[in-house]
Amino acid sequence: MEDFAFPAPVVAIPAPPGKPLPVRRIFCVGQNYRDHAKEMGGNPAADAPFFFMKPASAILLNGKIMPYPPGTSDLQHEAELVVALKEGGRNIPVSEANGKIFGYAAGLDMTKRDVQSEARKKGRPWEMSKSFDFSAPCSAIAPKSKTGVLSKGKIECRVNGQVRQSGDIGAMIWGVPEVIHYLSEQVELAPGDLIFTGTPAGVGPVVKGDRVEAIIEGLEPLLITIG
Ligand code: MN
Repeated sequence: MEDFAFPAPVVAIPAPPGKPLPVRRIFCVGQNYRDHAKEMGGNPAADAPFFFMKPASAILLNGKIMPYPPGTSDLQHEAELVVALKEGGRNIPVSEANGKIFGYAAGLDMTKRDVQSEARKKGRPWEMSKSFDFSAPCSAIAPKSKTGVLSKGKIECRVNGQVRQSGDIGAMIWGVPEVIHYLSEQVELAPGDLIFTGTPAGVGPVVKGDRVEAIIEGLEPLLITIG
């Protein structure tokens, strides 16, 4: 008989001044800014948001080195507002969604664009272009009790100090309460779930040695190095 007495892996993100938040699942919204949907050849007038996932183990903490992943030569940055839930539920009304939020962070939805494009062409799932190891760098979580509800503010991605993406989280097609609402119609949300809420236009490649920053007004900036 095997002995499975190894500890259950728990990924936790710092959430000062409180304890680190254990991460349950990571959901991501696709094409949630019109300018980015356009650059991806998508349809920004879709009637509902669409979602994909990354494993909790994909989290990379602020300040760390992200090893350049295998199987790609086009690793790209997507700066995103991350929402952390303190409560879950099914069929959460838009009007109650902000009440489920614990806090906010700056994140990067790192993407193997070549792998994604190839999968799209072949009509295959593009999951592996999104859900690889270290694909979800995330800053410390700022409690909503400190920041208030975030519905607008500058979002930027800089590579080696150069601005690559610049937008405003107020320009999301589906705002955070709508995103929570639609997602909760598909899965029962739970405390510790994170939602990466989509990225503005300007996504592009990074290479080894690049310093990649995701900056959101009012939150701790995220800075990682590609190694
Ligand atoms: Mn994204």
